[in-house]
Formats: sequence, C-alpha cells, structure tokens
Amino acid sequence: MLIHQFFDFHCQRNPDNICLIFAGQHYSYQDIAKQSQQLAQALLAEGVSHGDRVAVLCENCPEYLSLMMACSRIGAVLVPINYRLAPAEVLYVIRDAQTKLLLAPDGKLRELLDGLRPLVSKLTIISSTEQGRRNWQHWLQENAAPQATSMTSASNTYSAFLQLYTSGTTGNPKGVVISHHNIVALYTMSQTSLPVKSGIGTRDLVCAPNFHIGGSGTLLLPILAGASVVLHSSFNPLAIADDLEQLQIDNMFIVPAMIMAIIEYVPNIEQRDFSHLKQLLYGASPISTGLLEKAASIFKCDFYQCYGMTETTGTVVSLSPADHALALKARPELLQSCGRPLAGVEVKVINKQGDVLPSGVTGELLIRSESNMQGYFNLEQASRETVVDGWVHTGDSAMIDEDGYIFLRDRMKDMIVSGGENIYPIEIENVLSKHPAITDVAVIGIPDDKYGETPLACVVCATDQTITIEALITFCRDKLAGFKIPRRLEVYEALPRNPSGKILKKTLREPYWKDRERKIN
Ligand code: ATP
Ligand code: MG
Repeated sequence: MLIHQFFDFHCQRNPDNICLIFAGQHYSYQDIAKQSQQLAQALLAEGVSHGDRVAVLCENCPEYLSLMMACSRIGAVLVPINYRLAPAEVLYVIRDAQTKLLLAPDGKLRELLDGLRPLVSKLTIISSTEQGRRNWQHWLQENAAPQATSMTSASNTYSAFLQLYTSGTTGNPKGVVISHHNIVALYTMSQTSLPVKSGIGTRDLVCAPNFHIGGSGTLLLPILAGASVVLHSSFNPLAIADDLEQLQIDNMFIVPAMIMAIIEYVPNIEQRDFSHLKQLLYGASPISTGLLEKAASIFKCDFYQCYGMTETTGTVVSLSPADHALALKARPELLQSCGRPLAGVEVKVINKQGDVLPSGVTGELLIRSESNMQGYFNLEQASRETVVDGWVHTGDSAMIDEDGYIFLRDRMKDMIVSGGENIYPIEIENVLSKHPAITDVAVIGIPDDKYGETPLACVVCATDQTITIEALITFCRDKLAGFKIPRRLEVYEALPRNPSGKILKKTLREPYWKDRERKIN
C-alpha cells in the first residue's frame, strides 16, 4: 500500500474526524485531503514527476502533513531539511539530494531563506516569506486547479517516499532513502508489538521535528491508524504541559533531553494533572536511570523506551511497560536495556572480524528488518558498508542477554580505551546522573600519557550548586570500578546538543584532541 492510500481510506470513512489540532485550530481529515490534492496538482504543474526530490524547510505545520500525502500521490520524494542549520549546511543537503524544488510553507524562516537565496540562484523556492520569489499562496492559486495531468504515479510500495538526513552526530548527515514499504513495515511492527493504542478517537501529541524520523514517524503512525494528532510547531515545555492537561492527550513521544527540559522549566510541575496521558514513549538517545526515575514520578503512565535509527525508519527495539514494571519489582538493571526487538526484527552482535558473539558479550549491534532503508542517496560505498546482506550495521556497541534484552553500551566511536580496558561512558553517566548536584552529564575520553585515554566528566550543576572532583570521586567509589572513575571534571553551563537532543561528544572532545592522533569523530 502507498502512504496516501491509508490516509484516503480514513478520509472516505470519517471525513469530519479531526486529523490535526495545530495552534488552536482543528483540521479534519477532509481539510488535509483537500490541501494535499491542491499541493499535488501544484507540484505536477511545476514539473515535479516520479522520483523527483522535493525539499521542505518548515517547523511542524499542517502543510507538512499535506505535503507528505501530496508527494505520495504523485510519487515524488519529500526531503525535510533541518531548519536550524546554517544556510551553507542547508545548501549541502539541497545539493546532496539533487533537489528539484524547495518549499518553505510556514512563514517563520525569513532569515534562513534570505541567507540561502543568493547561494541557490537556479533553484525554485516557494515560500510564505518571500516578496521577490514565488509566493506560496499565489503558487497554490495558480497551480492547484485540477489539470489534465494524471495523478496516478508509477509508485509501488518499494518506491522512495521520504529522504531523511541522519542527525550528523558522528559526521556529515547522510540521505537515508525510505520507501512506502518501510513506513508500512514500521506501522505493522509497532501495531503488533507496541501496545500503543493509536486509532480512531485517540490523540497523540507530536512535537519532535519533522526532519527527523522521530518527528515524521510519530506524525505518520497515528494518521495511518486514523487517530488525531495534536501537532506542536516545535518543542515548548510549557505548551506540552498545558496541552497534556487540557487536550486529553493519550500518547506522546519525546526524547530524553525534552523530558529533562520539561522537568526543569515547567514551574510547579508536581501540581500539574497529567492523569489523562496513558503512554509516554521516549528514545533516540540514552536516558540516565536518574532522569527516568524523576520522569516516572511526574508522569504516572506507561513508559516505553524506543531504540532505532534513521536507517531503520525509527523504532525497531522497545522496552515495554511490562519490562519497566519488571525492572521495578525484580530486575532493576533492565532499566538500562533498550528492550527487545519488535515483531519481525532480527538482531545480532558481531566482533570486528564479523563473527556472531554469544549472549552477554559486547560487540557491534546489527539489525535486519523490513523497515531497513533502501540505502543512502548517492553514496554507494557507504550504503554497501552499512547494509550487508540486509543487515544494518548500527555503529552502536551492545550486548544481548540470555532473555533477548539488548543493552546498548555506546556508539562504537564514543567508547573509551583506558590502559587496555574498554570503558563505556554510559555506565559512568548513569552513576553521575544520580548525584543530587548534577542535572546533566556526558563522559568523554581524553588523552592520557599513562593510560592512552582517561574518562573526563562534563557536568551541568543545578542552580546554586557545584561539585568538586574530590566529591565526585568519593561519590563514585563504591559504585564504579577504579579505572572507570573520572579523575577529571569540567563544569559546563549547558552541554552542546544537536536538534534531536543528542549530546555532541565530538564537540566536547575537540579541544582535548586537537593535535593528537585519535579521530575526534
Ligand atoms: P549520524 O549517523 O549522522 O552520526 P545519528 O546516528 O545521531 O547521526 P540518528 O539516525 O538520528 O542519527 O540516530 C540513531 C542513533 O541514536 C542510534 O544509532 C543510537 O546511537 C542512538 N539511539 C537511538 N535510540 C536510542 C536509545 N533508546 N538509547 C540510546 N541511544 C539511542
Ligand atoms: Mg547514525
């Protein structure tokens, strides 16, 4: 099935059901269907045809959903671009994707577009902010009338549908080509294995940015199920708290950095009534057990952890509410697992030579799933190296226990090798996150003449509090092996993060490794 066929089914059966609530406005399935048909006609009139890349720069907005459906109708490939990038970085993606047309529907990005325009003189840009170039409203009015051009595309379910760029945590972002089939597989896997009951009559809050699979996926899944989405243009902790109280939200997906911000920035959060919320899904980056415990005291709902990557179209592994309960009762260490594979997903761990490792042994995690990407756009060699015999090499180190629970250690590139011992920073971060003065933490490897590398703790302290290296060492002494205890400490105002909330360890490492051999990445 193609993505818009799911949408059209719900629209035919329940045209007046709410599809989106955005900035206080309600949009029915019929409203969005109409907008997406107009957009499809306008794209055809612009000469966009099957397989062409249509880039979009916008915060989350109704037009983004309509564009997804419009592209699905005509077989075009939508490329949402991170609007927080600098113009030159946006240009990198536009060129990499061989973009045919750039759309900027939401009117907020004037500055970025002004910076971009001189760099891309030949590209057609259609935006709400521009005076001189093609204006969005005019463009739609001129082109949206049904034309002789046929809407039936040559798409099949394996045709490309979305091209999402990886977060660029470890290097340049790569264009991940995702097919209709990949999204349908994600939908089937989630419906089967995550008891997240999105469907007609339920409401999901979506605030993750559309240019990440976390945003596009969490927007599409409830829509494919005929549910309603409360869409936030971007992440705003207070707006989330208000909507959770007032709009009867059932499900929400957020990343750990957002949980942290909600706890920090919403005044008197303990007094808020979040009792309607049934399920909170979190993932995309590691969560410390300290933060998870705080979150569980505020949101008294079911928790799911999600693990996945752009290359697997998002979540392929999850820690269920039952697993969270089991962790609290009998197996506290389970909270450090990201869970077990979703239905139909295969996982294995290999060593550097490619041998499959037995349970309990750490190596690189590989994933085989119907949701695995078609490849990286125009990067044949990188695609061949990343997907081998259908298995995605995740670049994450992990161990699978005897019951099939996956314990992520770290990104392979973040592992610290000290005096021949492998140290996984996450273990140290989990301990430090429980210190009352510490609100955020990252551990990195820095050069050490004796041991090669040694762990450095980068911490952010709570207001009016601080911590010394002596106090930190004392705190860790009975909790961590001696060689894992950081001997150096750096206190930061805030840790550098990318828009998906991932800590940029390469930025933290940079000053320490400037003239050394280790690759900063
Ligand atoms: P790039 O590949 O460009 O360096 P990226 O890997 O950060 O960027 P994404 O595809 O957005 O880009 O992120 C996938 C990665 O996020 C995974 O490989 C893993 O390292 C991390 N991740 C995802 N979910 C979790 C989780 N639940 N716990 C810990 N880490 C996670
Ligand atoms: Mg990656």
